[in-house]
Parts: sequence; structure tokens; C-alpha cells
Amino acid sequence: MNQPGIDLTAASTPMMKQYLSIKREHPDAILFFRMGDFYEMFLEDAVLAADILKITLTSREKNKEKAVPMCGIPYHAAEGYLTRLLKAGHKVAICEQVEDPGKARGLVKREVVRIVTPGTAMEESLLDAREPSYLASIYRTKEGVGLSLVDASTGDFRAAQWTGPDAVLRLDVVMAQFAPREVLFPENAHGLEPFGDGPDRDVHLTKVEGFRFFPEAGEEALKNLFGVHTLAGFGLEGLRLATGAAGAALWYLQKVYGDRLGHLRPIRVIRSEDWLVLDGNTLKNLEILSSQPHGLRQGSLLYQMDRTVTAQGARLLKEFVVRPLKNAEAINDRLNLVQELVENPLLRGSIRERLRKVSDLERIVSRVGSGIAVPRDLGALRRTLREVPAIRGLLAELDSDMGDGILQELDEKPELLEFLQSSLSDELPAGLKAGGIIRKGFSAELDEIRSLAGDGRKFISDLEKREKERTGIASLKVGFNRVFGYYIEVTHAHRDMVPEGYTRKQTLVNAERFVTQELREVEERILHADESIAALEKLLFEEICSRVIASSSPLQGVAGALASADCYTSLAELAHTSGYARPEILEDDMAGRLSISDGRHPVLEMLETGKSFVPNSAYLDRVDNRLLIITGPNMAGKSTFMRQVALIVIMAQIGSFVPAGDALISPVDRIFTRVGASDILSRGLSTFMVEMVETAEILNNATPDSLVILDEIGRGTSTFDGISIAWAVAEYLLSGERNGCRTMFATHYHELTELALTCDGVRNYNVAIQEWGERLVFLRHVQEGAADRSYGIQVARLAGLPDEVVERSREILKNLEKTAIDTTGRPRPVAGDVELDATMASPVDSESQMPLFDGHEGELIKELREIDLEEMTPLEAMNFLAAMKKRHV
Ligand code: ADP
Ligand code: MG
Repeated sequence: MNQPGIDLTAASTPMMKQYLSIKREHPDAILFFRMGDFYEMFLEDAVLAADILKITLTSREKNKEKAVPMCGIPYHAAEGYLTRLLKAGHKVAICEQVEDPGKARGLVKREVVRIVTPGTAMEESLLDAREPSYLASIYRTKEGVGLSLVDASTGDFRAAQWTGPDAVLRLDVVMAQFAPREVLFPENAHGLEPFGDGPDRDVHLTKVEGFRFFPEAGEEALKNLFGVHTLAGFGLEGLRLATGAAGAALWYLQKVYGDRLGHLRPIRVIRSEDWLVLDGNTLKNLEILSSQPHGLRQGSLLYQMDRTVTAQGARLLKEFVVRPLKNAEAINDRLNLVQELVENPLLRGSIRERLRKVSDLERIVSRVGSGIAVPRDLGALRRTLREVPAIRGLLAELDSDMGDGILQELDEKPELLEFLQSSLSDELPAGLKAGGIIRKGFSAELDEIRSLAGDGRKFISDLEKREKERTGIASLKVGFNRVFGYYIEVTHAHRDMVPEGYTRKQTLVNAERFVTQELREVEERILHADESIAALEKLLFEEICSRVIASSSPLQGVAGALASADCYTSLAELAHTSGYARPEILEDDMAGRLSISDGRHPVLEMLETGKSFVPNSAYLDRVDNRLLIITGPNMAGKSTFMRQVALIVIMAQIGSFVPAGDALISPVDRIFTRVGASDILSRGLSTFMVEMVETAEILNNATPDSLVILDEIGRGTSTFDGISIAWAVAEYLLSGERNGCRTMFATHYHELTELALTCDGVRNYNVAIQEWGERLVFLRHVQEGAADRSYGIQVARLAGLPDEVVERSREILKNLEKTAIDTTGRPRPVAGDVELDATMASPVDSESQMPLFDGHEGELIKELREIDLEEMTPLEAMNFLAAMKKRHV
């Protein structure tokens, strides 16, 4: 509240005092202060909100020198503004008038009735239907890290704990997968940042008092919530940090929703070991959830794979995609169901058609549970339950175990459906105010008041007819407006004919309005009945909601089953329409084989319309094919090839069919990627530094079960440094604890192809190109063997570099290839006809290079010239070298 230039004492009218005292309770939220038909914002809130919402900033007590900035929004349009503030990462506290302004004496009483925060909101308009919305709570101490994740909008509740040196790294992985919208952490974090890889993440950070994270308090709160005596059943026993984090999350939710949290599902412990780990880098580099460079959903693997037709299905598929499985048997269970659905297009079509009609049951149950459901939600629930029996019937035709499991969760709930049909009207409004929610015949009391109100209305229309006859005024009519209520209107022309007992109420341009005693009485009856109807409907609506709450858990089961059914039919639809093949998942280790024939890049193959995508095969294992060195000019397709291998492995472990002719996959535990040169300027790291940090992370964490993708390591530094680092990295991956991990290494240093001569398990591949005179044709075909050179100059020409530059670089290259060397031993980029200055030790044309070597060294060069390395086996080369050494040294 320390806005410069604002004198608060000057603003302290009673209302401003009230405002400030409420604002003090919610310093970190924007306060929506209800005044009549508006929510007003003041002071910094007003300045901030006016900017985000693009609304006019005005001020209270304008004429005074120290005015209070303010802005306002109409209450009935609040939701749109609220959404925008939330998206901008702010919290909003909604403060209502809690007594009738007409009846209040003095200042109207006001209270904050809701706090809307990015991580706790669950109104439909505030959420993305196809995305989960997690609140994370992080409790980091010297022992390790506890994490809890709650999606209040679906009831999903989880926790995790890590200790040891890589605890924060593991936290980062899970944070990248769940992408929470808000993060809670203790305010007194003692220099321990809540999480490691934070600054560029788009989340709202909320500090809360440290004691909210105390494990003891968390344990009590969780036991209370779930009505249990011990947390052992949840696997939480002994996980103190996780329990503390979960307790804080629960406290925060209770602050928003009170005790209406019955829809939270039993807390589950996250065990990273169960999944193929894709860290934040890998998700980004492989464009799993969003494409580069703009972060759009289009162009991502998820976007390509998603054929779901329900919101809950879309959210589940996302979870499948960020957390593929690792256990071969579990993957095969999924694949069996997908295959069944692929092979049965008719059944698949019927299931999808039915699923299109169901609503987002998962979120409806949550909204009902937390008391923010609207009548339309119950209508959607009813519609969904109507579809369930048919969907059950269809799923019953499936044979696979997974199909059975889904069927068991898919409870029909006929009593609840029956109850909803008999209690709710056919058409339901979005809000309660509109009325007409409860079906006739459901409540005798309601029906009676309704008929009273109806009688009153009929009485009034009868009255019009009667008065017309009695007075002889043909144009007399009875009307209603909100200010004056019911009235009788007579035009000025007939003013003289107005009878006794009419009291004037309002004069218009050409008519006059009157009331009578009788009209007043009926009006009273009608308005009173309307009020009673509204109150009773609200009560009955709440009753119906509590019936739904009583069925929360089975309904969540139904929602889960619908999501699964949607997910698997989506995977089958994808497989069918994209011509994918079922991967064979190897349940025995089989030397960690990854064998893909005629693989395609799932996203690029769709984009290459007109042109056809060239399929490529890959083979890796833990023995002779541990490290593939992939060379070829820029733009040849190296990166694409490596990514497609990784994506196929990921898809296979999701339980999806894959874009390949055939694929044999032995599941991997983690995919590491080091791709592209992304400058993270905001963190002050140079490209090369980022590259090395990422490389270090891979080298320190890869296991024999990992798949590693390195795209152009060592690019950000000088050539010699780069080659040396790249070489050493490759050797490291081939040795020690991580030995057995499978690596693909794309590089433009074709010096690295010589690794195959000195290390076991290394294979050279290159992406074929064809030279047509000066030009290059990319064949996109990956073949065994090393690329013979880089073709950088040809690519530069393709890119449109001026001919002069291309020619000159060709000259320089020629010179470099003759290994002209300067005084410091570096290749020298100077062409032959340049004047030499004194510092240059050697002339540069090929003849004059020779003086570097004389005597028998000249012989040595001659011998070297004569051999043809291409024709030699490594063994012959060794022998040749040994013979030379004997002769000359
Ligand atoms: P590199 O990493 O060798 O520089 P990329 O993998 O980035 O090359 O590929 C460059 C472009 O070539 C891609 O954007 C894509 O359009 C095209 N491409 C790559 N692989 C294929 C393929 N197998 N079939 C068709 N086009 C491809
Ligand atoms: Mg590349």
C-alpha cells in the first residue's frame, strides 16, 4: 500500500477504511470490491488491473490533489476480466456486499467470499478443457524435497519426495511434466530456492508461512480429509517432506473452498521409476507438447497424436504422452487394447460417436463437490449418464484385459440418472437466478407456490380485460416495470374517463400510469411468490447436488473410464488413419535392442505435403551399435533422423502404434537430448555454457538403459576445442557406469567418424546427398558409412550467399585442406596469391608447404600420399603405421 503520491489518510472515508482493512487481509491478491453493479479496484490494484485489462483508470475524489486511482468492471461481465487477470498470473479476491444495501444502516457490510488463484480455479471459463490445472506445493529442506500436486478441478492429488544429490533434478523433471499453474512454497526458505530450474517457467509463485508445511500438521489434515487413521495405505508413511507439502496444499485449498473438498481423490505417491523419464529439456527439444520456436501446440507430438473427442480423454492422453511407461508388460497391455480397436473400425467408430456426446464429467463432479456447480452442470451430468449404458455395451465387446478394467469402472448409476431426470427440468440455465430449474412434480411445495404466482399473473391479465370493459377505455393496458411494479396505463386522450380509485404513479409523454389497491395486493402476492420460488429452487438444487456428491467417487470412476476409452480409441484412430504399425515391445532385455525399419518423423511426415517423407531405418543395441555417429551436410536430415528415432521409442512406450514399417523396442528408462543452440539469455548463460551444462547433466545421469541424443556438441567454441570435447564426450558415454546406453551423435566434424577405428560399439552413418556439378541434392536417406566431407560451401550457396563469397570460401577451403599451417600450428585461411608479411612462417601453395618436412620426413609424406585409406581395413592401417614407425623413427 505504499503507492508514492497517495496520502491514505486523505482517502480515509469510511468506505475507504473498509476497503483498506479488507485489502490488508489479501495483500497478494487484486481485490474486486463490490459497489452496486460494479467491482471496483483501487490504488495499486487499479493501476495494475487497468493496464492488464485495458480499461480506463480514473480516480476517486478527483478534485483533491491526492486522488485515489480506481477502475471498475460491471459485475455481470466479471468472469472475462477475471480470466485475463488470472492468465496474467494474478490472484483475485472477490469481495461482495453481504447485506442488502436497501436494508443496511450506514455502510454496507462487505466480505471476501472467494479467492480465485491460478492454481485453484475450477470454473469452466477459467480453465482450458484439454489441459490439467495443477497447484504445486514444494517443501525443500536440507534433507531433500517434498512435492505435492493437486488439480482441484479434477480431484487429482499426488505427492512425491526425493532425497540425495539429484533431488532437485528429479523435482524439475516432474515439474516440467505436470506444468503447475501455481506453486506454493514456505516464505522462510533459508536460501533454498523452491525449485531448481525456475526462472523461465510461467507460473504464479505463492509464499505461505513456513509452519503450514509442518509434516505433523499435514498428516493430521490428510487423515481428516480421507477419514483414515494412518497414511500407510497411501504409501505416504515415512515420507515426511511429501506429507508436509501435501498438508500445505490442502490448507491452501481449504482457504478457498472451505470444507467442500470431498471430491479430492486418495492421494497417490509419484514414483519416477515407473515411467520413461522425459525431462523439461527433452520435452522441449523433441517438441512433445509444443513446437519450436513459438511454443505452439500445433506441430507438437501431442497435437499430432491427439484424436480424442472428450476433454477428460484429452487430459489423460497428455498424461500418457509426458509419462510413457517403462514396463514392457504394461506397455503390451495397452497395445493389445489399441490393436483390438484398430482391427475393429466399426466398434471404434461407434464408441467415438457415443463419447462425443459426453461432457467433462471429471470437472463437473469437482464443481459440484466444491459448491460452485451451476444448473447446466447437472444437465451435462444427466446427459453423460444417459450415454453410459450404450458405451458399456460397446466396450463389453472387447476381449483385452485393459478393456475389462475400463468396463469395471464404468458404473451406470441408474438411480442417480433416474433422480436427475425426475428432479430437473429439460432445459437448464447457466445460472441459478434464471429459475425454472426444478421439474414440475418433484416438489409439491414448489408446485403450489408456482401455481399461486401463476394465478396472480392470470388474475392480472383478467384484470386488464375487466377494467377495459368497466371504464370503456379500449387502449387501457396493464404493464410491469422493475422500478414501479405493475401499473395500469391510460393514454392522455382518455384521461377524463379514468375512474375513482386509480392513483397516479407516473406521467409519460402521451400516457399516464396508475395503480389500484387491488393491483397492489396482487403484485405483493406475485413478488412474494417469486422470491419464495427462487429460495426454494436454490434449496432443492443444493439437495440434488448433495445426492451427486454422495456418488462422487463412483462418478470419478466413470469419468476415468470414459477418459481411458477415449484415449485408447484415439490411439487406434491415429494408428489407422496414419498408417502406423504395432511396435514389438521386448519383454526380455535382448541387449537393449532398438530396431526401427522405415521409420518416419510423426509430425514432419504430415507437414511434408506434396513432397514425400523419406523413411529411414535405425538399429541400436548395447553391444556393437552403442554409438551412432551421424554425419552429413547441414540440412541433410541428421536432426530429423535422430528425433524420429526418439519419438518412435516414446510413442511405443506410450502404447501407441508407430510411424515405421517395423519396430522392435526394448524399453528405455530415460531419453536425454542435447539439441540445437538455444540461448537462455535471461539466465545469463552463453550458448556454449548452456550446451556444456546440458551435456554435463547427460553424462552424469545416463544409465545403461538410457537413450541419448546429441546434436552438434561443441559447436559454440573453436573447432579444435569442439572436436576434442565431442570426442571425449563420446568416449565417456562408451565407458564406465553408463556403458550400454545407446547414443546417437550428429556432428559436422567428420573427424569424429574416426572414433569407429578406436572404440568398440561405434558405427558411422551419413545422410546421403548427391552432387550435381556444383550443386547438392538431398536424398534424405540415412546410410552406413562416414560422410566424406561437410559440403558447407555448397549449402551456403543454396542459402543464397553471393557468388563472390562462395568462390572465395572455396579458395580458402582448398588452402586449408592442404593444411597450410601458421606459426602457432593453426590452419591458415590465406590464399596463394596474397602478399606475405614477415610473421608468416611458411608460404602457402602446395609446393612450398614441403619445406616443413625435409630429409626422410619428405619420404614419410610421400609414403603417406601413396596409400589409399579408403581401401584399407583398420587392421591394415595399424600395420602400415607400425611399419612406418619401424622404418623412420
Ligand atoms: P540437419 O540436422 O542435417 O541440418 P534437419 O534434420 O534439420 O537437417 O533437416 C532439414 C530439413 O530437411 C527438415 O526441416 C525437413 O524439412 C527435411 N527433411 C529431413 N529429413 C527428411 C526426410 N527423411 N524426408 C523428407 N524431408 C526431410
Ligand atoms: Mg541439425
